[in-house]
Amino acid sequence: MTNLASMLVTTAARQPERPALRLGDWVISYAELDDASARFAGYLRAHGVKPGDRVALMLPNVPEFATLYYGILRAGGVVVPMNPLLKPREVDYYLDDSGAKGIFAWHTTEQAAVERADEVSLVVEPGRFDEALAAYEPLREVVERDGDDNAVILYTSGTTGQPKGAELTHDNLRRNVEVSIATLLRLGPEDVVFGALPLFHSFGQTIALNCAMAAGACLTLLPRFDAAQALAILVRERVTLFAGVPTMYAALLQAAGSDEPDLSALRTCVSGGAALPVELLRRFEEKFGCIILEGYGLSETSPVASFNHPDRPRKAGTIGTPIAGVEMDVWTVEGKPAPTGEVGEIVIRGHNVMKGYWRRPDATAEAIVDGWFRTGDLGTRDEEGYYRIVDRTKDLVIRGGFNVYPREVEEILYEHPAVAEAAVLGTPHPTLGEEVVAVVALRPGTSATPEELRDHVKRQIAAYKYPRQVWIVPALPKGPTGKILKRSIVVPPPAES
Ligand code: AMP
Repeated sequence: MTNLASMLVTTAARQPERPALRLGDWVISYAELDDASARFAGYLRAHGVKPGDRVALMLPNVPEFATLYYGILRAGGVVVPMNPLLKPREVDYYLDDSGAKGIFAWHTTEQAAVERADEVSLVVEPGRFDEALAAYEPLREVVERDGDDNAVILYTSGTTGQPKGAELTHDNLRRNVEVSIATLLRLGPEDVVFGALPLFHSFGQTIALNCAMAAGACLTLLPRFDAAQALAILVRERVTLFAGVPTMYAALLQAAGSDEPDLSALRTCVSGGAALPVELLRRFEEKFGCIILEGYGLSETSPVASFNHPDRPRKAGTIGTPIAGVEMDVWTVEGKPAPTGEVGEIVIRGHNVMKGYWRRPDATAEAIVDGWFRTGDLGTRDEEGYYRIVDRTKDLVIRGGFNVYPREVEEILYEHPAVAEAAVLGTPHPTLGEEVVAVVALRPGTSATPEELRDHVKRQIAAYKYPRQVWIVPALPKGPTGKILKRSIVVPPPAES
């Protein structure tokens, strides 16, 4: 049972006829998915892919993602998921760094993949791809792996420096899935899970794909997130579990407008990947009558590390408490445990922490100290053991020697009725070192001036913290999961203040 692919095979044996995946009107049963992944595993074996070999996947959220993902694992291979929007240069970097044996890319990303064509790789185009596989003997058995063997090498989002491959083992992922199903999501075969998050990213891969397949639920896919379409699917397919990043919750609220869509089947919403502004949580819950549980994690932690558990009191604005089998702590800059309530770096230890960064012993040694993974996120722990993210270390703005945590300022901006999205950043300043500025996108049909937004914050916060300049833009740049990419925001240098 060690190989992650066994989860799918076990579910398929238990309930072959039940729906595993859905894309529009196309429904794929567990038996069909199991068969297709066995055939793909057979193809890989026939092409010389051996246990431990890396194989790259570059697919949007289509059913083939699941077929290929489990096929690679079944053959004992290591999946290297890649964003289908990557450019050829980036594709080369991922393939060279991981030493992948082959790449399976969606037909619309063909040119990047074809340049690397070899005897293993194939372009994945519905119909043609299935024909190419038909000649191969399915590999029915699941190749035995150790719990400590790599299952997936996940390149982290790359908002800082060169992407590094986080080595997630079969045990890392399987246990994160088991704990998430049992203690957070409480999933079963009757559930309909919405796969709106990209499956090549850790959040969607564990919470949507692997949890759904292990629990025998139906995973309904949306290749590219669009709020109006997502809302229609939530209603029509009576989705019971929605997992998303905060920008998705904001977009769903906006898409609903003054309508009252019937989301009565929706049992649980989970948010992660970025801070969920308390005001957004409140508005969403009020409008749709469901609870959002906020959690926290990173690609390096498989990803789930902490959550507002369904059976414990929820604290909005916090990331909850560590999940079963995982410990968290807050460290001072000297690497000592920080007193309760004090800001420090959040560290994590447990079954979810990656083995290391692929072929980067130095980076691994820096990141994992005595078994504790250093997240680079700044946070606090309260008396009841709830953690709160204050910000990322690198996002901290130091204005004239005073620390300003952008998250705190963003929370206040979100409380303004005209604000849809907000990012607070530091820009270089000749005397203060850094100045605080805000970049904001407004909700459609509302208006606000930069001065009004600045004064809204100024009234409620220490003088050194409010943004001296507010820029209003149509939308903020976002990464593949919908996370706001602060480092892609370019703001003009601030005026002297
Ligand atoms: P990734 O590896 O792409 O999943 O990104 C992980 C990063 O997302 C973490 O280091 C945090 O900075 C951020 N993150 C994840 N969940 C939360 C959350 N609930 N609140 C604030 N930041 C979060």
